[in-house]
Amino acid sequence: MPFSKLGLSDPLLRAIADAGYTTPSPIQLQAIPAVLNGHDLLAAAQTGTGKTAGFALPILHRLSQHSYGANRPIRVLILTPTRELAAQVGESVSKYGAHLHPRLKTEVVFGGVKINPQMMRLRGGVDVLVATPGRLLDLVNQNAVKLDKVETLVLDEADRMLDMGFIRDIRKLIALLPKKRQNLLFSATFSEDIRKLTTGLLVNPIKIEVAARNTAAETVEQIAYLCNKANKAELLCHLIKTNDWQQVLVFTSTKHGANRLTEKLNKINIKAAAIHGNKSQGARTSALSGFKAGEIRVLVATDVAARGIDIALLPHVVNYELPRSPADYVHRIGRTGRAGEEG
Ligand code: AMP
Repeated sequence: MPFSKLGLSDPLLRAIADAGYTTPSPIQLQAIPAVLNGHDLLAAAQTGTGKTAGFALPILHRLSQHSYGANRPIRVLILTPTRELAAQVGESVSKYGAHLHPRLKTEVVFGGVKINPQMMRLRGGVDVLVATPGRLLDLVNQNAVKLDKVETLVLDEADRMLDMGFIRDIRKLIALLPKKRQNLLFSATFSEDIRKLTTGLLVNPIKIEVAARNTAAETVEQIAYLCNKANKAELLCHLIKTNDWQQVLVFTSTKHGANRLTEKLNKINIKAAAIHGNKSQGARTSALSGFKAGEIRVLVATDVAARGIDIALLPHVVNYELPRSPADYVHRIGRTGRAGEEG
């Protein structure tokens, strides 16, 4: 089924064409009509499935259907676990809404950067706010945002938000929203905690499950190298050099490990950068954009920092240290071999 049959308005179809999408992904096929009809949604879907467009497009459609007052209250609130994901979702929403008239305003707020500029940007009114829970609560406490006109709440990567200890913040934020609203929840896994959260939150949700990616894409070739711990860094350098890998995402289990490996690589002139929770937001953003642009050859990341990162056509992923769970492993290597590409 083509996008044009899903009930989206022309400006949105134009943005879809601009993005180069020709056919809706499975989650989009199910989510778009459901969200357009105002249903609550419970979706099992990970990054890489097209879930962002799955909620952003119908939300934008609904928003643009009715006008707003001069003071532009926040009508859509999207909560995400990490700064990177918040930024990425914000970019997507702006991109998909590019042809809408009047233009809708989207802002992104997250912790780790100064709060004042964010307060300034919110002052003129915002239609769609993408936020990490902790910073949003800070902004609420400083009276910089009001959430009493929110029509749609999206919890993106809800499982990871709970893993990161955001449950209390999320509950506090939900308590500030109007009782009557649309709720969309996306999660890769469904633990007991997620179930508890959904029970009070979702009203007769439409349940969507796209092929659970519990296995890696078949287009990803996986190779294991047996090696002493002491020789690991050397082996990695050797593989990068002899195979002439130009873009490699390397996972470590700790922030220190990420820093140490990054130093070693840089010492032998393999340009590397680390991203993890201790890095400033500026450092993380510039590492990521340098990596995407091909200026940084190796990005060394911890699982949390890498969550949700979307890099088109990433060819190589290295598990330098073992992930904590099979799900994390699938997540890690799922950064490559996207959309039928080889990895
Ligand atoms: P997401 O799962 O939302 O992080 O999206 C993963 C990637 O798929 C992003 O780079 C999107 O731009 C891309 N994408 C989303 N929908 C489609 C589609 N229908 N066709 C092709 N690519 C898509």
